[in-house]
Amino acid sequence: MSHNKGRLFVISGPSGTGKGTICAEILKDINNEFSVSMTTRAPREGEVHGREYYFVSHEEFVLNIEKGNFLEYATVFDNYYGTPKDMVIKRLEKGRNVILDIDVQGGLQVKSAMPEAVLIFILPPSLAELRRRLEGRGTETSDVVEKRLAKAVNEIRFIGEYDYYVVNDDLGAAVDLVKSIMASEASRVPEKVLPIIRKYEKEQKGE
Ligand code: ADP
Ligand code: 5GP
Repeated sequence: MSHNKGRLFVISGPSGTGKGTICAEILKDINNEFSVSMTTRAPREGEVHGREYYFVSHEEFVLNIEKGNFLEYATVFDNYYGTPKDMVIKRLEKGRNVILDIDVQGGLQVKSAMPEAVLIFILPPSLAELRRRLEGRGTETSDVVEKRLAKAVNEIRFIGEYDYYVVNDDLGAAVDLVKSIMASEASRVPEKVLPIIRKYEKEQKGE
């Protein structure tokens, strides 16, 4: 990753742990942009096509797979979800940070395609609290809530593949921690440090 490119952040964690809520706070900073995924899941009440997701048919999703349009995609809770590649690349090139709210299968695919991505795992304070949040959100039927809870521990098993973890107990504290991780990553010496060295060499030569 070159000096002036944006950073790619992957946010994962069990459904209901607060990823969307945390992302909404992070996205108040205009340097951070959300990658809108494509999904075959039906929209929830209040969700807008192109804002939360691009809601598409199974056929349209498969067509996008065939065209190689995804940075990653996976089947999550019986539906396809995928990250459109072009938008992510374009925004990084423009120097913006890009935030992906994706599951662990997707997170691992991104890590292998773009090893410079920073992976952050959001944990609930407990499974009991996770259940309260999922039920409290009221967006899924009780069947779907049970499916999502059943998958939670399986997802947590992948935490070792991630770079950071944040326990979302107090929301403000969790958001502050994610922001400080992002700020620290902005100052990480890039793998390819040549652009930085060139800058000082040029100055030394008076160019
Ligand atoms: P996810 O995107 O991980 O599925 P959401 O962001 O939709 O989760 O959060 C699930 C529910 O939990 C929402 O109703 C949200 O308002 C609530 N929530 C999120 N963070 C907290 C927190 N720190 N404390 C209490 N409730 C929270
Ligand atoms: P939800 O249906 O609650 O919006 O999302 C369900 C799960 O799918 C969440 O864990 C969310 O992070 C994940 N998800 C959303 N978009 C994508 C995506 O583009 N790719 C992958 N792999 N997972 C996604």
